[in-house]
Amino acid sequence: MARIGVIGTGYVGLVSAVGMAALGHEVVGMDKDENKIRKLKRGELPFYEEGLDRYLREAMEKGNLRFTLDTAEAVRGARYIFIAVNTPMDDDGSADLSQLLSASRSIARALDDFAILIVRSTAPVGSLDAMVQVMRQEGKERGKDYELAYNPEFLREGTGIYDFLNPSRVVVGADDPEIAREVMSLYEGINAPKLTTTIKNAQIIKYASNAFLAARVSFINEIASICEALGGDVWDVAEGVGLDPRIGRQYLRPGPGYGGPCLPKDLLALIRMSEEHGHFPHFLEAVHLRNESQKRRIVWKVKEALGGVFTGRTVGVLGLTFKPNTDDVRNSVSIPLLTRMRKQGARIKAYDPMGRESAMTVFGDAIEIYDDPYEALRDVDVVLILTAWKEFSDLDWGRIRESVRNPYVVDSVGIFRRDVPKGWKVWVVGRGETEG
Ligand code: NAD
Repeated sequence: MARIGVIGTGYVGLVSAVGMAALGHEVVGMDKDENKIRKLKRGELPFYEEGLDRYLREAMEKGNLRFTLDTAEAVRGARYIFIAVNTPMDDDGSADLSQLLSASRSIARALDDFAILIVRSTAPVGSLDAMVQVMRQEGKERGKDYELAYNPEFLREGTGIYDFLNPSRVVVGADDPEIAREVMSLYEGINAPKLTTTIKNAQIIKYASNAFLAARVSFINEIASICEALGGDVWDVAEGVGLDPRIGRQYLRPGPGYGGPCLPKDLLALIRMSEEHGHFPHFLEAVHLRNESQKRRIVWKVKEALGGVFTGRTVGVLGLTFKPNTDDVRNSVSIPLLTRMRKQGARIKAYDPMGRESAMTVFGDAIEIYDDPYEALRDVDVVLILTAWKEFSDLDWGRIRESVRNPYVVDSVGIFRRDVPKGWKVWVVGRGETEG
C-alpha cells in the first residue's frame, strides 16, 4: 500500500483522502484552513457530504488517515502527492491558478525525496507548465526530483464518496506512460473503466465532460421555453427524448440554469483557453448565453407574478444551494437571481434545508434567511422555488396558503410538475401556469 499526501481538503481533496484511505493506502491530508483541520482531527466533516463521516471515522480509527496544517508533514515520505486546491474563476472567466501555484511552491520546499505530484484540481492546459516553473524556482527538476500526473475528479457533490468508490471511469494523464500506469495502480480496488492518456488529453477530458453537461442543461432549458411557447409540457417531452439510449435521461432536467462550483467556471475556462489558442468556440458561447438568459427568464417570471414591479414586494424563496443534498452555495444561481430582484427593490425571505450558514456568508444582510420554511414564506407576495429539495413538496402548502399575501408559486425546478397544491396557482418551468 502506498503513502499519499493530499494538499487541500475541500470537497475533492477530502473525498480523495478518505477514498484512498478506504482503499487501504496510508494518507495524510493537509489544508491551510485551521478551522477545517481542527474539525477533521476530531473526526468531524467541515461540510455536508452524505456518508463521508462514516468513512472518515473508520479510516482514522484504523490509523491510515490523519490531518495536518503542515505541508512538510504531508509531503515527507509520500511517493504520491495529490493536489486538490481550488481553481476558481478569474474576472475574465479564465481559471485562477494562484492556489495551485502557491501549493506547488510549498510542496517544492518540503520535498525531500522523489514524488509524483498528481493534480486533482480542474486545471487548464498549460497550468502544469506554470507549476514546473515554480518548482524550478525552488530548485526542483522534473524527472529528477518529481514527476507530474493529472487525475481529474468527476464526483458529484452530495454523493462524493459513493462516486469516488464507484466512478464512471478513472482517467490518469501523464506524459510518461509508466508514470500513468503507476498512478492508476493506486485505484486497484476500484472496478471501473480506466483510461491512461497524456496530461493534455486528461485535462481536456475534464473540461469537455463539464461543457457537455452544461450543454445538455442549456438544451433542455431551450426546449422548456419552446414548450411554454407552444403549449407543451417539457417534463413529458424530456422523458420521451431521454428514453432514447443514444441520448439518455441524465442532465435533461429543466431549471433556473446551471450553477455551482464546476459547470459555469469550467465552461468559461474552456472558452477562454481555446480563444487564447486561436479557436473561437461559438457553440460553447451559445451554451453560456442560453444559461444567462434562463436566469433572466426566471427573474422576469417572478416580476410578472408580482404585477410587473419588485419595489415594495416580498419574494419568499425556497432553496439557495446550487443543487439539493449539499450545503454548497458557490456560484449558485440563487446569487445572481436574488441580487437582481433585490436591486430592483424586492425584499427577499429565504429558507434552505442545509445551506443556511454558507448562504449567510455570501448574502450577508442582503436577504433574510430563516431556519423555518413556514416563517420564510409568511406574508410574501410570491413564492420562488430555486432548488429541487425533496422536502419542499412535503411542506404543508395548505398552512402556507393561510400566511401568504398571494398563493402563487414560480416553480423553476419542477417540484409541482405532477400535482399542484389545492388553492395555489403555480407556474412550472417548461409547462406554464396551472391552478390546483
Ligand atoms: P474547495 O475550495 O472546497 O477546496 C480547496 C481547499 O484547498 C480548501 O480547503 C483550501 O483551504 C485549500 N487550499 C487552498 N490553497 C492551499 C494551499 N496552498 N495549501 C493547502 N491547502 C490549500 O474546492 P473543491 O470544490 O474541492 O474543488 C477543488 C478542485 O477540484 C477545483 O479545481 C474544482 O474545479 C475541482 N472539482 C470540484 C468538484 C466539486 O464538485 N466540488 C468536482 C470535480 C472537480
